[in-house]
Amino acid sequence: MVAMKMQIYGKAADACGGECFDVKNPATGELLEQVPRGTEDDVSLAIEAADLAFEGWASTSPQQRGMIFYRAAGLVRQRKEELAVLLTQEQGKPLAEARSEIEGFAHVLEYYCGLASSLRGDFVPVPGNGYAFTVKKPLGICAAIIPWNMPALIMGWKIAPALISGNTFVLKPASNTPLTNLTLASILNEAGLPAGILNVVTGPGETAGESLVRNPNVRKISFTGESRTGKRVAELAASGMKRVTLELGGSDPMLVCDDANLESAVAGAIRGRFYNCGQACTAVKRLYVFESIAEEFIRKLEAGVKNLKVGNGLDKTTNIGPLNNRHQLEYIKGLVAEIEEKDGGRIITGGKVPEFKGSDKGYFFEPTLVSDVPGDSRLLKEEVFGPLLPIVTVKDMDEAIEEANRSIYGLGASIWTKDLDRVRIGCEQLNAGIIWVNQHLKVAPEVPFGGVKESGFGRENGPDILSEYLDTRTIMLKT
Ligand code: NAD
Repeated sequence: MVAMKMQIYGKAADACGGECFDVKNPATGELLEQVPRGTEDDVSLAIEAADLAFEGWASTSPQQRGMIFYRAAGLVRQRKEELAVLLTQEQGKPLAEARSEIEGFAHVLEYYCGLASSLRGDFVPVPGNGYAFTVKKPLGICAAIIPWNMPALIMGWKIAPALISGNTFVLKPASNTPLTNLTLASILNEAGLPAGILNVVTGPGETAGESLVRNPNVRKISFTGESRTGKRVAELAASGMKRVTLELGGSDPMLVCDDANLESAVAGAIRGRFYNCGQACTAVKRLYVFESIAEEFIRKLEAGVKNLKVGNGLDKTTNIGPLNNRHQLEYIKGLVAEIEEKDGGRIITGGKVPEFKGSDKGYFFEPTLVSDVPGDSRLLKEEVFGPLLPIVTVKDMDEAIEEANRSIYGLGASIWTKDLDRVRIGCEQLNAGIIWVNQHLKVAPEVPFGGVKESGFGRENGPDILSEYLDTRTIMLKT
């Protein structure tokens, strides 16, 4: 097997020493590729490449940069099927979800292509005999470290605002899902992105990731991953006085009021929780339903969940693929064992590894609903990254909001109601960076995305994001 190469200087590069690690299919356990185990030296090489390329790239017009994005988006759309299959193979998600993630990546490039013409400074009249101007300058070398759950979309969110603003870039993918990232980077080069502007270094977080954050030439780090890792990244970035954006874990609550459209709330809960096998930062991780409708809601939800088919994401009939890795599967199994041993709730449906031909080869788990969850349960306190949904009944909106806000996380939250007063109260009082009304999960590069509390700080996307990748230079002019 030929190892897939890192992208340094826009060319395929061998790892120093030639050491590799395996990327395996989480549905079958099969070896997909071997990828270089990037070292500190590889990171330095990538940063050197980004440094050499910086001046040339910064002096191109934002519109020229945008046109490269536009061409790349076209190529990504042309190769959508091949990319979606690759993403499903390494990540596990059903093919339909992989296709929409690849579309999402192309859309992100197109959005920032449009934003290119909005890059500008200001002219500011000041008191006295003079003028002031502000000029926007790219920061230099930016870097991102990303997780395995949405590798294509998150790559787009990180690289696009940085590159369109004239920065050069080093990306470190998650070790379970580097293949789609490497292929997308090579498509950007094919679309005309000059060598050295986007470099991809594969390798472990503790070595390749940390040396990227430590390197004094990197001016900004955008990190997406677990809150614990985010704190480590923040510490390292602080000692180098680097800008940092942290998109971390979440435990999003979904509030289902007594006047909600039950059919759409049930469909929303199923998609919100079981999309990507429950491995989305903004997945519905806690469900609070008004007690007056709880019985009917749970009955309908159970019926819907029982219809979901677990299987290999490449199989057309699959609704839920495997978890991405053994660690995630063991974590979910451990939570279920604890529920059973400690009387920690009632499993309504699911709760075990499904039985079908080959299910023992992958990291499969049944979609699981749990009711009667005690308030101190780990299901409500931790970020449950998998197909397991705790359901809690509440008397009214006040109690729902109080319970929802109890989490250490504050990424997203959703309110399901037809009552505008409840919408207003929820939008004002829920402590989250994103609030959905009668929907959950939808994200778009046109609007800011990010959380509060342990879900991190800084925002991605939306027109204001460019200021995160630019320095403002003030020029005072006396006539
Ligand atoms: P993780 O924190 O284990 O790993 C994320 C990345 O950090 C990987 O590339 C990993 O190699 C790297 N890394 C690990 N240790 C490091 C270190 N010491 N220094 C530098 N880099 C290091 O997270 P994960 O398990 O890959 O992803 C799941 C997590 O990501 C969940 O908590 C999920 O909620 C979160 N997430 C958040 C968002 C968001 O936008 N808020 C989006 C997607 C996922």
